[in-house]
This record gives sequence, C-alpha cells and structure tokens, in this order.
Amino acid sequence: MQKQIQRQKHHHQYSQSNVLFRLVASILICCIAAAILGLKAGNLSHQLKQTEGQLALLTLETEKLKGENDALQKKYNETQKAEKAQPAAKQSEAGKAAQKVAYLTFDDGPSPYTETLLNILKEHDVRATFFVVGNNVVKYQGVVQKAYENGNAVGIHCYNHAYSSIYASQTAFFRDYNNMKELLTSLLGSSPTLCRFPGGTSNTVSEHYGGAHFMQNILPQVTQMGMTPFDWNVDSKDAKPSPASVQAVVRNVVNQARKYHHPVILCHDTKKNTISAIPFIITELKNLGYSFDVLSQNAPACRQNPA
Ligand SMILES: [Zn+2]
Repeated sequence: MQKQIQRQKHHHQYSQSNVLFRLVASILICCIAAAILGLKAGNLSHQLKQTEGQLALLTLETEKLKGENDALQKKYNETQKAEKAQPAAKQSEAGKAAQKVAYLTFDDGPSPYTETLLNILKEHDVRATFFVVGNNVVKYQGVVQKAYENGNAVGIHCYNHAYSSIYASQTAFFRDYNNMKELLTSLLGSSPTLCRFPGGTSNTVSEHYGGAHFMQNILPQVTQMGMTPFDWNVDSKDAKPSPASVQAVVRNVVNQARKYHHPVILCHDTKKNTISAIPFIITELKNLGYSFDVLSQNAPACRQNPA
C-alpha cells in the first residue's frame, strides 16, 4: 500500500516536471517563431520599401511616357491638319491660275475724256491701269488723283512722248523717267512701281534715235530701280491716225482677249471712241467669265522683250 502511494507520488512529480518541460519548450518555440517572424517581417518591410520605390519610379516613367505620347499625338494631329490644308492651298493656286482676269490699260492720258472713263469704270465696278504722260498729268492733276483714289493703278509712260527726245540717249531717257517718277510721287503720295515704255519693250524706234540694243541696255537698269515694265498682249488698235470705230475697238479687244486667261489690253484714253467702246468691252468680257483687276508687281508678267 505504502509502495503504491510512493509510486503515485513519483508519478505526480514526474507529471509536474513534464508539464514544466512542455511549458518551457513551448515558450522557447514561441520565442524562436517570433524571432523568425520578426526577421521575416523585417525582410518584408524592406521588400515593401523597395517595391514602393520601384512603383514610384514606374509612376514617374509612366508620366514621362504619357507626356511623350501626348507630344507625339499633338505632332501627328498637326501633320494631319497640314496635309489636309496642303491640297486646298494647291487647289487655290491652281484655281487662281485658271481664273480669267482682264487688265484694261490706258496709255497717253489723262485727257479731256478721262474723267468720263473714270465714271464708266466706277459704274461697272471695274478698275484699270493708267500709264500716264507727264505733260498731261500737269494739266489734269485732279483727274489723276481721282483715278488713283478710285483704286485704279497709275504708272509711268513718259514725261514727254516725243520718241526723238526720250530715246535720244540713255541720259535723256532716265532724265525723263526720273522727272515722271518725282511728279507722280508728289501728286499721289507714293512712288510708282509700274511702267510702260512708249512703243513697248520691243520697240525699234529707240534704236533709230539712241543706237543699237537701246531697250536691252535700259531694261535691267529700270528693273533694278524696282520698277515692273508691262507690255500688252491685246491691242485695241485705237491709236491709228484714222480713228477706229467704236465697233472696231470692241471687236479688236474681245476677239483677242478671249484667247488669254490674263489679257493685258492696250487702249488710249485720249481717243473718244475708245471711251464709248469700254462699256461694251466690259459687258462682253464679263459675259465670257472675266473679272477685272489692276496691274501690279504680283500680276502675271506681260513682256514682249524679256531682256
Ligand atoms: Zn504712248
């Protein structure tokens, strides 16, 4: 009996120490696990920080790419827009060349008929170009100013129309020319840029008075002065000694002008029949699809002598 009690006591002691051992072991395991978890957590935190950094870098990279993409898109849109606009510009240039524009030009004036002509042009909403003569400008200054104020172009023909005088020498020519330039500049407030030589750029009368190659010698000098010389491709033939009838002037102009997209029509506002022919010429050419404009440095060139 006593032996049994003692065995039980030993067993109890053994159980107690066993429980203690288990407790200590459990605590140890917990500590180790905590240490491992702590290490892992430390690692995870480090990794998280690294990932956050990478994410920030990626965000920056994405924003940079987005910016580049926006810039490229903008450039692409602009290119598309320019490509779309280009054919329109080409078309408008082609359209401009295809447009039929008539240039009425009047030499040798002003005259007693010029004011009537200005009224006719205004009534028809047409502007023309006047290559005036200095001696006549002095007589009809108000008419020249009115022509200019109405939107017509005024260019140099010559001061003194006598061929023997103007084409006597280069010195004589440029003296006449500069006198004319000064006269128009003071009268109109702006320097003329257009001119038409008496007889045109291919005249031979200048060689008769001033020697061989007279026009070839003066032409480059005139263009260097910033002047644009214009001839004509349609002659109204109104300058003949025997006056051309109104019908003849209309017929001469319309029959030749219809052959050109840009007819430059030679008339003289010193001829009464020409003034009477102008309303018919305007109506006929408008019916044929022509508009009217003044000559300018931008107008298509019209030169018989290209020198
Ligand atoms: Zn003339």
